[in-house]
Amino acid sequence: MSGRIAKLSSMLKRGEISAKELAEGYISRIEREDGLLNAYASNTFEYALSCADEADKLIRSGRATALTGIPMALKDNICSDGHFTTCSSKILQGFKPYYDAAVWEKLRAQGAVMLGKTNMDEFAMGSASETSYYGAPSNPVDLSRVAGGSSGGSAAAVKADIAAYALGSDTGGSIRQPASFCGVVGFKPTYGAVSRYGLIAYASSLDQIGPLAYSVEDAAIIYDAIRGQDARDQTSLTTASGATSLDIDVSSLKVGVPEEFFGEGVDDEVKEAIEGAVKLFERAGAKVKRVKIPAFKVALPVYYIISCAEASSNLGRYDGIRYGYRAENFADIDDMVVKTRTLGFGKEVKRRIMLGTYVLSSGYFDAYYKKACLLRGRIISEFDGVFGGCDILLTPTAPTTAFKKGTKSANSTQTYLADICTVPASIAGLPAVSLPCAAGAGGLPIGLQIIANRLCDGTALSAAAFFERTSGISSENCGEVKL
Ligand code: GLN
Repeated sequence: MSGRIAKLSSMLKRGEISAKELAEGYISRIEREDGLLNAYASNTFEYALSCADEADKLIRSGRATALTGIPMALKDNICSDGHFTTCSSKILQGFKPYYDAAVWEKLRAQGAVMLGKTNMDEFAMGSASETSYYGAPSNPVDLSRVAGGSSGGSAAAVKADIAAYALGSDTGGSIRQPASFCGVVGFKPTYGAVSRYGLIAYASSLDQIGPLAYSVEDAAIIYDAIRGQDARDQTSLTTASGATSLDIDVSSLKVGVPEEFFGEGVDDEVKEAIEGAVKLFERAGAKVKRVKIPAFKVALPVYYIISCAEASSNLGRYDGIRYGYRAENFADIDDMVVKTRTLGFGKEVKRRIMLGTYVLSSGYFDAYYKKACLLRGRIISEFDGVFGGCDILLTPTAPTTAFKKGTKSANSTQTYLADICTVPASIAGLPAVSLPCAAGAGGLPIGLQIIANRLCDGTALSAAAFFERTSGISSENCGEVKL
């Protein structure tokens, strides 16, 4: 399947449409359809038109790249100079950053056209985007269902084509799981491959920015444009992790299937779909072997201890003084901070701040935080062991297809279980892509997750491109848009 980006880009370069006309077309689709979808937290239409003017100049001067003039969206936690960036939280209402995130700097320089910021779980905490201050986005395949989270707005916008592509962030699955639920491609790069400068922090040792796109080819183009070392992000990698070529010799590929990812809680239709994908690799000559990652069983608690600990520290800065919202009536400065945080943060964010402060507090630090860090080391070394004999791992992205709105958020433990297949790669900093691989009951998309070794981002994407090409299953035909 050829990508959406290549198609639009060639129309622009041939002069069949101008970047301005293309942007206007997307803007009117957003105006028509986003009332139902709620995929956007805010729009930047005027800015989009000025970006489009710049893009048209680049095209006329013959300096256009694949992304010049392509209308896209940023998740509401990625900063851009002078535009609302609120993490879909009340506490950041009115906040406009004074600078561009590194990823937007790079895309803007290529003449990308930003339509707005996409709706998300508050501070990226959630798996259904239902913790958003703006209410949840809907899944374009079935409006009564969630779009996944936390980058639910990005996934919904891409699926419904009210953004040609979008950026999301992934701490424990927030790019891959919504991609799986909406039937699009989502890619979380190796930790450190893409600069986090200008990404509002949730859990800094896990956060990564990546693309949500209509095809694997699109995801690779976007990844190529945003990756690279950045001195402003101390964890940014100096070693390049490539994507440029999507060619792969599948007959010499060693594919691992980790059995723990197919355990209790994973729906039968999901297991069958992934086994079908495994067979497709096998038929093409790949050597498939069943592997074990026993530490899988501790991945979820390890993730929630580490991410909450880091969040409790990162979110300490929202005090009503420096950013966004401030409570109105207060007696003194302490009262102001307490009231601002009490009224500004939602329930799930507060729960995580409390959990995080608890696991970091003296007397509990060794029992929880330190133990989680030790177990993180074990998970990493088990993956290292498996990648000694495998090039990629095939697993489900999520244990189920998109669930009905309002059915899981009341019970957090159940929502946390939605991340069971995505958090292991996050903990180990590994690149992982989710792409549509089958339609389940009700025509709902099922995502295949391909995990590769650290810095082997190109391998994950090439294997995904092979699957998309060979299976004929893609965002285009997996999960029909009902709008
Ligand atoms: N659902 C996970 C969480 O709530 C992952 C979120 C994310 O990747 N940002 O933490």
